[in-house]
Amino acid sequence: MKVPFNKVYQTGAEDAYVLEAIHSGLQCGNHQFCERVIDLMKQRYGFQQVYLVPSGTAALEMGAVLAGIEPGDEVILPSYTFSSTVNSVVLFGAKPVFCEVDPKTLNIDVTKIEALITPKTKMIVPIDYAGLSCDIDAVMDIANRHHLIVMQDCAQSYGTRYKGRPAGTVPHLATFSFHETKNFSAGEGGALICNVPEWELRAHFLQEKGTDRRLVLNGMKNKYSWVDKGSSYLLSDVLAAMLLAQLEHEDEIRGKRGQITAMYDRLFEPYFEKGVIDIMRPTKDDELNNHAYWAVFDTTENRQRFMDECRKSEIYVYIGYMPLHSAPYGLKFGYKPEDLPITESIGWRVARLPYYTAMADGCLDYVYENMSKVLKSIYGF
Ligand SMILES: *Cc1c(COP(=O)(O)O)cnc(C)c1O
Repeated sequence: MKVPFNKVYQTGAEDAYVLEAIHSGLQCGNHQFCERVIDLMKQRYGFQQVYLVPSGTAALEMGAVLAGIEPGDEVILPSYTFSSTVNSVVLFGAKPVFCEVDPKTLNIDVTKIEALITPKTKMIVPIDYAGLSCDIDAVMDIANRHHLIVMQDCAQSYGTRYKGRPAGTVPHLATFSFHETKNFSAGEGGALICNVPEWELRAHFLQEKGTDRRLVLNGMKNKYSWVDKGSSYLLSDVLAAMLLAQLEHEDEIRGKRGQITAMYDRLFEPYFEKGVIDIMRPTKDDELNNHAYWAVFDTTENRQRFMDECRKSEIYVYIGYMPLHSAPYGLKFGYKPEDLPITESIGWRVARLPYYTAMADGCLDYVYENMSKVLKSIYGF
């Protein structure tokens, strides 16, 4: 049996919606299916404003423009994240200021943020790694005391709740990804959530190439003009149709994925107890969306052995992120690997386990049996 790292899941409802979108005669952004997705997201999770965009990356970029990121600004973010998180601010001239992660969550270590704040700091961009929320309350508290903007990269946490509140509802800005590797796929797609009422009109302008076309659509003007900077941050209605089908099956998808998390918990528990492998440890504050699963091995060598041995059974385990501060482009900002020793150490030891919705339909026993054998051969118990 072959168990890839990721596989796209189809609910069966995509076909009809996509055909309908194709034949509707209206295929660009913010038409019927986009509106239905936005309504669904708002109703289910109570987001203030939702903008459907071409990718999680585009959502971060649009958010950075909306936050007013300019050359000279500093933005605090974890080094342990995807390149898109940092690129979104680097593209507009900001300097990334990398923060350590908490080894328990692999999310930004909130106790180390305040020491990084300078008069140039404008924004904090935490992420929710593997769908587990960062301590967003602590981040907001720091931000409010220092008058900073918070943009939460929720690319992996659509549907997660923290202390009862859905991911994306707490910060000023939040971003989701609907890339095919995420829980709900439009192929490529994303959303920017804006919870600041005064930014709403400008967000529409930025999304519509810097024009006030929204005022024309609302009947408030009869000709639109160039009023701001902006880009084409719009998701095609055809892709929104696919996304709608996925989001309408959220409970089914989350339920299946929950079985994967349970299987990995059972598998790694003995190794976690003995202190040789660290795993995700959600607390009573966390309600997970079942996005992914990670394991931090005691040594790089044991991680490598685990990946190599699993591959012999055609089970594809991958490394996690390589830290950004010590990546080739991170070094150009003056960083050295030893500047963030915790992140650096974890980067060399973390593995991401195969995790996709259809795994629940027949792969779980195979993965459990084979990985058990591999772990026993490495650790001897
Ligand atoms: C997937 C991901 C992104 C990028 O999303 P795309 O839709 O692929 O552009 C950004 N940040 C994080 C943390 C991600 O996991």
